[in-house]
Amino acid sequence: MSSNIIADGVVVSLAYQLEVDGEIVAQTEPGDPMEYLHGAENIVPGLEQALNGKRPGDKLSVTLPPDLAYGEYDPDDIDEVPLEDVGDIDASDLEVGMVLEVEDDEGDVYLAFVREIGEETLILDFNPPLAGKTLTYHVEVLGLRPATETELEHGHVHGSDWDEEDDDGE
Ligand code: ZN
Repeated sequence: MSSNIIADGVVVSLAYQLEVDGEIVAQTEPGDPMEYLHGAENIVPGLEQALNGKRPGDKLSVTLPPDLAYGEYDPDDIDEVPLEDVGDIDASDLEVGMVLEVEDDEGDVYLAFVREIGEETLILDFNPPLAGKTLTYHVEVLGLRPATETELEHGHVHGSDWDEEDDDGE
């Protein structure tokens, strides 16, 4: 496998700006690129497709409709949840718009936005924050390296600050 071309199993480091509705909503800082494992669905599908076959030094801008980004907004993906299910958080710390981690009966953890705060329940929105949005990424490919075996096994990058003891094996 050539490590000069973006392909499955390559760790890619990128500088990017994410533009939504004409505004930059996220970007990497100079000297602090984003790394991801190509082919492992670490990034939105449209961006992964656009980067396939690119090389270090390549710059591109891609505009992605929701189905190639975070998906359409799903109005059914909203739930009323008892306050006691949101864990350690103090009710007085809750604010509309904040993001919570919510654990379901199987122990899986989901991120959700608080839409409404009631006496005993919360209305939570489980849609990704950018669901339903058209995204434009301005990207520069900075570097590539082959993924380690462990990274391939886990399906994500282990950065230099990765602590193996914290690894939950996912
Ligand atoms: Zn891992």
